[in-house]
Amino acid sequence: MLNRPLRDLRISVTDRCNFRCTYCMPKEIFTRDYEFLSRDLLLSFEEIERLVRLSGELGVHKVRLTGGEPLLRRDLEHLIASLKAAGDFEVTMTTNGALLARKAQALKDAGLDRISVSLDSLDDTVFRAMNDVDFPVAKVLEGINLAHEVGLGPVKINAVVKRGVNDHTVVEMARYFKDTGHIIRFIEFMDVGHTNGWRLDDVVPAAEIVAMIDARMPLEPVKPNYLGEVARRYRFKDGGGEMGVIASVTQPFCGDCTRARISADGALYTCLFATKGFDLRALLRSTATDQEIIDTLAGIWAARDDRYSEIRSSETVDLPKVEMSYIGG
Ligand code: SAM
Ligand code: SF4
Ligand code: SF4
Repeated sequence: MLNRPLRDLRISVTDRCNFRCTYCMPKEIFTRDYEFLSRDLLLSFEEIERLVRLSGELGVHKVRLTGGEPLLRRDLEHLIASLKAAGDFEVTMTTNGALLARKAQALKDAGLDRISVSLDSLDDTVFRAMNDVDFPVAKVLEGINLAHEVGLGPVKINAVVKRGVNDHTVVEMARYFKDTGHIIRFIEFMDVGHTNGWRLDDVVPAAEIVAMIDARMPLEPVKPNYLGEVARRYRFKDGGGEMGVIASVTQPFCGDCTRARISADGALYTCLFATKGFDLRALLRSTATDQEIIDTLAGIWAARDDRYSEIRSSETVDLPKVEMSYIGG
């Protein structure tokens, strides 16, 4: 046991997605015939709200909605409003931004606090190839700008960097988002799931990314905002704002990991790389009282000894794991 507090809950609200990012839901596997979860297997909004409310008793104060693509879940703004009403929770979301221009105002009105948008390159050809459904950069940028306008900013932009695929567009991205009030964060390509064909050679170490940018636009490190902040933050020395890197492969942060993940069908995972989740859906659909659910959550969290990324870095073991689109990243 490592005695890490439980602070954040990441909840996947759907396992479906309108993109087929090659590193997450490769087309060859997530085909037209792929069997996604049926509606009755998904946690209902009421079930999610109850879980969040009860986890608040254990110290959770941040909730991130993710997926799959969360904006594909119908009436998501109703869930956001109910979570905001359930207690003192900061509610955020990670989205691919495809539907954001249309939904930004409703999300803000429902009480969403902030948003992260995934965008891997500003080079349209590179981006279309990475999302693999030919989706244009311009539409995502439109969503980011609207989110900013309605007050969901500062918008965090997440870019997964894969060697030989989009690493040549990193500096251009940093330059584009500098001075805009948005915060770009570059993420090391991780070995989640079995379907993305991960190899260590594909990872561009965060230190290399920082060096590339620093050579053109000088940077200085910024202290973390709070314990467990996964991004290492940097400030542009000329006052152009901030950027960050998430070095989950080369500089793992398991010791500070304060987050639990809930898959779309209600399984609780204490680590992004866990192989088995705990079936909270069955518990929620049983006669269990609120206190029994709180006790179960507390017990699972207290017993947790996950530190996958640290083990992987030191021993390069091949442990079994679940898919990112299912567990939510
Ligand atoms: N569909 C939404 C999106 O793309 O923002 C939310 C779910 S997605 C699984 C959450 C985040 O995980 C995205 O920023 C995505 O780029 C990241 N991600 C997916 N597969 C990854 C991998 N193999 N390594 C690093 N990040 C990954
Ligand atoms: Fe969909 Fe997000 Fe995975 Fe891309 S990273 S396939 S947008 S869930
Ligand atoms: Fe947390 Fe697991 Fe990631 Fe380590 S590998 S930081 S324990 S989710």
